[in-house]
Amino acid sequence: MFREFVNKFRRNRDRRLWRKHPLQKSYDAVIIGGGLHGLGAAYYLGRDHGMTNVAVIERRYVGYGGSGRNTSIVRSNQRSKENIPLYDEGLKLWPELMRELDFNLMCFNCGNLNLVHAEAEAAALKMTVATAQFMGVKSEFLTPEECKKLVPQLDISDRLRFPIVGGMYHPPGGTVRHDAVVWALARGADKLGTHIHQLTEVQGIDVEDGKVTGVRTDKGIIRTPIVLNAAGGYSPTISSMVCIQLPISVLPLQAMVSEPLKPFLDHVLSSGRYHAYASQSLKGEIVTGSHMDPWPTYNTAYTSARYLKHQGEALIDMMPCLRGTRFMRIWAGLTDMTPDMAPIMSDSHIEGYYMDCGWGYFGFKSGPITGRYMAEWLASRKCPDILKPFSLRRYRDYNLQRETGATMYYTPWN
Ligand SMILES: Cc1cc2nc3c(=O)[nH]c(=O)nc-3n(C[C@H](O)[C@H](O)[C@H](O)COP(=O)(O)OP(=O)(O)OC[C@H]3O[C@@H](n4cnc5c(N)ncnc54)[C@H](O)[C@@H]3O)c2cc1C
Repeated sequence: MFREFVNKFRRNRDRRLWRKHPLQKSYDAVIIGGGLHGLGAAYYLGRDHGMTNVAVIERRYVGYGGSGRNTSIVRSNQRSKENIPLYDEGLKLWPELMRELDFNLMCFNCGNLNLVHAEAEAAALKMTVATAQFMGVKSEFLTPEECKKLVPQLDISDRLRFPIVGGMYHPPGGTVRHDAVVWALARGADKLGTHIHQLTEVQGIDVEDGKVTGVRTDKGIIRTPIVLNAAGGYSPTISSMVCIQLPISVLPLQAMVSEPLKPFLDHVLSSGRYHAYASQSLKGEIVTGSHMDPWPTYNTAYTSARYLKHQGEALIDMMPCLRGTRFMRIWAGLTDMTPDMAPIMSDSHIEGYYMDCGWGYFGFKSGPITGRYMAEWLASRKCPDILKPFSLRRYRDYNLQRETGATMYYTPWN
């Protein structure tokens, strides 16, 4: 019995979710970045368009970037009419993806509660609720008492630094296990024939007569007519290889996880004024994040006392029951933030060079659905209507989107 168990364990241990391949001299498309967006595009290129001679090039390991570091929140109550349809489709895709990829993505649609702490913030929030309702997305404004019914541990008294004056409740939102999504998409893409090359760095992109002809990596040169930049925090660096300057600031975002606690938080709770959000994982841990740090850095191996202090104070203020809770892990990731806090999904003046980046702190929830539409674009060379508002050209045309502060409501002084 025991031997059988050990053998089964060894067999499972040795089974890889995706295979290793030698780097080919040419591919029909090369995707830079083995995060959710790159893997999503690779998966749907194979599934929907029969494009399987595709390489995903990843300089570290699959999920090394934001895709393996996020706090796994999903929702679709964005602020603007351009963003809501994409996020809404993305939210509805999770159950389908879970079945199709045959992987437990641990979808938990516990709902999101966004708190506000001033009348002006409440007025702005009501506009967001109205936009969501107009677009057919479930979202409602709640009084402090109604918020407390959802989260009984919430302090709705005047004691708080920023007393709660209401909240936006979005029942279809929740959490999905982020690393499971990465592994499932990688396995799905691999099964369809995509080559995933880890520990391979793209160092240059070749362009001739205004067309992409290949990429240069530290393992060799690849000929290809299509390149997709899905390099997250490194997307500006990749774009600068073809002399395209992206309006992206790369800022670090920290998150942390507590010791397991008895279940008490059934919803994803966030507050822009406190710059803090939290959810309770199925293991009982409090998973919590904040706003990006204001200093640009590419260092993800750091944590700051400033963040720990801020986060502790914010959580204890809103939910005093958390006083004394011990935090077990803390980490950081890069966010590629655009000025209007909306992503860039775009082609360019260079034929064959595409971008899917600028996802800041909101790109997990939209990874697979964006992959599906980017794959359609790459395969047909025709931009799907839903992606048209996200072109890089909007910055040239002064046509920025109104997504700023979709979760984190901005206080008048920032
Ligand atoms: C702490 C934190 C919390 C977050 N919480 C949420 C959340 O709750 N909900 C949500 O929706 N979003 C959240 N996000 C944002 C989300 O994680 C990202 O927007 C998303 O993961 C971006 O995915 P991506 O595939 O575009 O990029 P990434 O996952 O960053 O992947 C890019 C990959 O490109 C690789 N790469 C870079 N340069 C090269 C090169 N030269 N050659 C080859 N490969 C290269 C990198 O190694 C990396 O693996 C959070 C982010 C952080 C950091």
